[in-house]
Amino acid sequence: MYSKPMNHDVAVIGAGPQGLLFAIWLKRERPSLNIVILDRAESPGHKIGESTLSGFCRAMRSTGIRHEVLQRLFYTKNGLGFFYSDTNTSDLQTAPEYITETFDETFQVERRTCDSLLVANANRVGVSVLWHHRVKPNESVFSAGANRLECETPRGRVAINARFVVDASGPSSVLGRHFSRYCESNVPFQTSAAWAYFKNVKWLNQYQGWRNTAEFPRDEYTQHICFKEGWVWYIPIISWQKATDDNLMEMLNYLATPDSPMLTRDELSQKFNCPYEQIWSIGIVLRSDRDQVLAQGPQAAFEHYKRKIPALTTLLDGAEILKDHYPNHNPYAVRKNFRRFAQQITGDGWLLIGDAAFFIDPLRSPGLTGGVATAYYAVQEILGALDEGNLSRSRFDRYEAYVQDLFDMLEEQNQIAYMSHNHPQAISLVRRFGEVSSRGHFNGICDEPYQMADTNVWGHLCPKHRQRQRIVWKIMREEEVEVGARSPIEEQEPKDYERMMFRLRQAVGGHLDLHMSLTPYIMHNKREQIQLSPTKAIAKPYWVHPAQRKHNVRSANLIADRI
Ligand SMILES: Cc1cc2nc3c(=O)[nH]c(=O)nc-3n(C[C@H](O)[C@H](O)[C@H](O)COP(=O)(O)OP(=O)(O)OC[C@H]3O[C@@H](n4cnc5c(N)ncnc54)[C@H](O)[C@@H]3O)c2cc1C
Repeated sequence: MYSKPMNHDVAVIGAGPQGLLFAIWLKRERPSLNIVILDRAESPGHKIGESTLSGFCRAMRSTGIRHEVLQRLFYTKNGLGFFYSDTNTSDLQTAPEYITETFDETFQVERRTCDSLLVANANRVGVSVLWHHRVKPNESVFSAGANRLECETPRGRVAINARFVVDASGPSSVLGRHFSRYCESNVPFQTSAAWAYFKNVKWLNQYQGWRNTAEFPRDEYTQHICFKEGWVWYIPIISWQKATDDNLMEMLNYLATPDSPMLTRDELSQKFNCPYEQIWSIGIVLRSDRDQVLAQGPQAAFEHYKRKIPALTTLLDGAEILKDHYPNHNPYAVRKNFRRFAQQITGDGWLLIGDAAFFIDPLRSPGLTGGVATAYYAVQEILGALDEGNLSRSRFDRYEAYVQDLFDMLEEQNQIAYMSHNHPQAISLVRRFGEVSSRGHFNGICDEPYQMADTNVWGHLCPKHRQRQRIVWKIMREEEVEVGARSPIEEQEPKDYERMMFRLRQAVGGHLDLHMSLTPYIMHNKREQIQLSPTKAIAKPYWVHPAQRKHNVRSANLIADRI
């Protein structure tokens, strides 16, 4: 059965955070636009991707969501903690530890609640979200100014006409795959994850005898337990999973209304009959070139690394696995080799954002935040293209190059982070290196309007930082290859990487010391230092198309000169 096609200015495939943020931003910028989001799911449901950074929380707030609402719904996250742990480290308290704080208070989000909150906000600003609409790309037509999306729905086929299509379909990458431009095999440096949800995990804050005192309770950091094959994440979550869809949506609609009185979490729970509980998300992420165990299944990987890494044994001691907390979710979930990307990001009348464009790795929580950087940039470019009446692929060359550049930068940064697990001091050096560039360019403490400098990735794209990052990557890679040629991974120890540390300190040590104030790590971990970061002045995007950089790096260097 066919109904009459519906006409829209912009159609978005996928009601995940990136599709929703994109649509809300676009609608707020241009209220006259008719925007629709299509999602194949029945309603927002459970997804992985729980730990957020400032860039993402700011994006949420910039849509009108109050910070207090995030505080009521989610568990607080004040930063990222890194423990170096190996078979010789007997417990967390004595493991080398490094902490960085997020720019402002962020959150560990349960995705059904987070995505539903954005849906409530999208509805409020006048964006339609159509659930149970699966876009069928093979039966659709893609053409600048005249796209026609064929959707499968429970009531039969529906056609949606749209001048422009934004693919925010996450790992499905509907258009990336349709145009055979999606690359997920033969990607070097792959990682895989196994994860599960637990209750009765012992709060880290109850451990006795920490060497240093962190500014916030250790449970309020996403904790990373790092070892040479990979790392473990530790994320406390406030779960509203037992609330029905209707009750949850009623509560979120209430909270999305700007002047609704702010109730406590318990009052909200009672008023809307939405029970909540404390659970933990714990996952292991493993380098595919170093781990042999995940092939035997996610549970086997958990048991193996729990035995091998004493700090993980302590963490999971007494914890109770949740077997059926989320529907259609195995007690031990697994996602293998998840690094993937689309080789073509734009086409005539369409482009990709978020995970539909690429996904690299959860280490240091960059997924949602990197995605926001694509969604926000896409809004700016599409507004310009609509004004000019030019929706052809060539109009989006700059966006295409930006996303490719972002991917290259994040990919290199991610490999550096994994290679830093070869030596405890490399973890802190690499963290400080990243902090200098991201804090040096962050946009102070502000919520609206959102700017490119509000994305955590912004500073990392600075050409000067990229040059330094390349040097760091090269040193680490050369050392890893050389040590790897001498001894198998099981036999490698931090002392094998002393020369790497020496070379790294020579290459970037001076730069890091010069900008000590931008890396407020645990030793001098004061809130004021974060706010004093010299970042207020950045008003507009400085990112320069790589092809133009030689001739047109003025604005980039102006900023870069400051760090
Ligand atoms: C193991 C693991 C751990 C992670 N941890 C973190 C973390 O701690 N922090 C973080 O920031 N990120 C993390 N991520 C990444 C994070 O999950 C993603 O970056 C994020 O979910 C991407 O959001 P999105 O909006 O692009 O896509 P999604 O949230 O995947 O949304 C895509 C939507 O498109 C819909 N869709 C798909 N196909 C169709 C179709 N044909 N028609 C209509 N609709 C369709 C889907 O139903 C879905 O709702 C992690 C990822 C993995 C694999």
